[in-house]
Amino acid sequence: MNHEYINQFNLIDRYVLGKLGADEAQEFEKHFIDCPECVEQLQVTRSFVGDLKELAIQETLVSSNKPTPLPRRWELGQLVPRRSWAAIAFGCLVLAGVFGFFGVRRLNRLEGELRQAREETSAINQQYQRGLETAAASEKEHQEAKQQLTQRLEELEKKLKTEGATNQSVRGSDAPDVNFPIFALVSIRGQAPSPVEITLSASNSRFALSIPVEDTRVFTTYRVTINDYQAKTVWQRDGFRPDAYHSLSLSLKSSFLLPGNYDLKVEGLTSNQWNTVGNYPFRIARRR
Ligand SMILES: [Zn+2]
Repeated sequence: MNHEYINQFNLIDRYVLGKLGADEAQEFEKHFIDCPECVEQLQVTRSFVGDLKELAIQETLVSSNKPTPLPRRWELGQLVPRRSWAAIAFGCLVLAGVFGFFGVRRLNRLEGELRQAREETSAINQQYQRGLETAAASEKEHQEAKQQLTQRLEELEKKLKTEGATNQSVRGSDAPDVNFPIFALVSIRGQAPSPVEITLSASNSRFALSIPVEDTRVFTTYRVTINDYQAKTVWQRDGFRPDAYHSLSLSLKSSFLLPGNYDLKVEGLTSNQWNTVGNYPFRIARRR
């Protein structure tokens, strides 16, 4: 049983007037026990009915005497038909329903806003977390790049050191040779001297030969040829020019010539012809 049914069939009025069937009355009682609205309505109707009865008695009494004015508070009751009380109650109910509806709607809206706020917070949190992760990732990348760079620098440094060492050894060969022996050769023109002894020790990596040019003819350039004891040419080079002392000079690696007898020949160039200037025999020996 609900209020719509109660109002539609004027159950409250009929209950007060004792016009409900036993079943209907019982059901209505079951409802209004838990319904303060119906209880209040019931009380209003009861007192209304009570007043009506009283009025009826008074009217019966007065009919023989003089008319009595109606109680003031029932002036409204008389203006408003009994049927309208139910309508007013129904209107109140509707109003309550409307307020209830808007209340629920407002609550729903607030709940929606709260949910949205929670979602936004969660989204911001996620974004923050992602930001943290990205920062961590880029920091890691940075660290890796740094490490790679450091490694590369170390490799370059190592390479430089190795190359430096290599360069030093290259420069070593370019570096000045000190204390290398210089041997002055003697031409066999005129006399027949014994070969010049060239004794090299293990510490002599190089040696030099000084070759005096005794020929007074003028040559544009000189050529030096070294033949071994079998008269086989082991080395030949042109482009020699005499120095201030009228000597040619030649520097050789000690390992260039094996121990033994050699003949060094000097020739001068005149009009496309090589002319012998002198022969300079020498012997290479190793000091043990
Ligand atoms: Zn009720």
